Amino acid sequence: MKFKTFNPPVRTLMGPGPTDIHPRVLSAMARPTIGHLDPAFLSMMDEIKAMLRYAFQTKNVLTIPISAPATAGMETCVVNLVEPGDKVIVCVNGVFGLRMKENIERVGGLPILVEDRWGEVVDPDKLEDTIKKHRDARLVTLVQAETSTGVLSDAKTLVEVAHRYDCLTIVDAVTSFGGSPLKVDEWGIDAIFTCSQKCLSCTPGLSPVSLNDRAVEAIKKRRIKIQSWFLDLNLLMGYWGSKTRSYHHTAPINPLYGLHESLVMLHEEGLEKSWARHWHHHHALRSGLEAMGLSFLVKAEARLPQVNVIQVPPGVDEAILRRRLLEEYNLEVGAGLGALAGKVIRIGLMGYGANMKNVMYCLEALEAVLFEMRAPIQTGVAMNAAQSSSIQN
Ligand code: PLP
Repeated sequence: MKFKTFNPPVRTLMGPGPTDIHPRVLSAMARPTIGHLDPAFLSMMDEIKAMLRYAFQTKNVLTIPISAPATAGMETCVVNLVEPGDKVIVCVNGVFGLRMKENIERVGGLPILVEDRWGEVVDPDKLEDTIKKHRDARLVTLVQAETSTGVLSDAKTLVEVAHRYDCLTIVDAVTSFGGSPLKVDEWGIDAIFTCSQKCLSCTPGLSPVSLNDRAVEAIKKRRIKIQSWFLDLNLLMGYWGSKTRSYHHTAPINPLYGLHESLVMLHEEGLEKSWARHWHHHHALRSGLEAMGLSFLVKAEARLPQVNVIQVPPGVDEAILRRRLLEEYNLEVGAGLGALAGKVIRIGLMGYGANMKNVMYCLEALEAVLFEMRAPIQTGVAMNAAQSSSIQN
């Protein structure tokens, strides 16, 4: 068999991630590889840490990217902070809350679930009631932006509730980071993780994490050794810390150039402006989709601007709809996950992709395919609605 160079098709990525990678990120990644202990590389690592602190809005010393996707960021927080027998309150309103539960079980922790319906926010009162019943719990976990349902929960209030009962907090900010307001120090978040491939428009495979002094203290007081060698933050800080810079693993050098460039771009734009841009384009897309007659899974006040979850109109096969968008328009949108499979599609507007061109292209393609599939939609109004929303907001 003869193998040839792989040339991927050129798509517009409007699923739940990855998003379209910014050309500046791709060209940064094509720069010459240098050694991972080269002084030039070490000083670039320092800049990454400084820019991540800005993006997380924190002064946490322990702010580094894990060399693996965001699931490893989740695992880093869990494996460092949870010990066998620890009770952990886990807020679940979608797929990623359940992934957290699974992680906790695997390190011998005892997850206590606070369950909310998929498509609804995590309810702070339910969280408080659950903590009151389990006063021996020492940790609360929550997903700020549940990508599986398109819901943005009130992380600030949930963290406040957890702290009232002296629990540490782990926050999943994979889809909100860089796209929706997130203030790690002001909100008192103890441990947080995110990804590179969504609002940063970088390639997948890196997971920034940040832990405050309370979380670091808790790690120091552990009774047993951290089960994972690779994700042990004490060891990782030997490489990423500011004092010693010794070999831990061979860092993904070129992907880190990409992360650096994406953070430079976030700096250039400004964090608040990036949050506003995501909201603005979500609003335009939403106006177009609703004018077409499509409905969101989530009520307006709980919607996550980065992931728009739309009910599939009656009589439309969701898999065929997505396949046609991909084959005929090179447009990727996401499928429903878990209980929502087949019932919804997820339209991402993140990072570089959160722009008017993508909003209009998506509306145009969706309208054309749905019309041909004989879906009960209004035609000829969506793009005007998006345009006027964009002018007004
Ligand atoms: N948490 C949330 C909220 C996510 O949306 C995702 C992925 O989309 C993850 C965790 C896991 O991220 P990764 O696929 O990079 O491991």
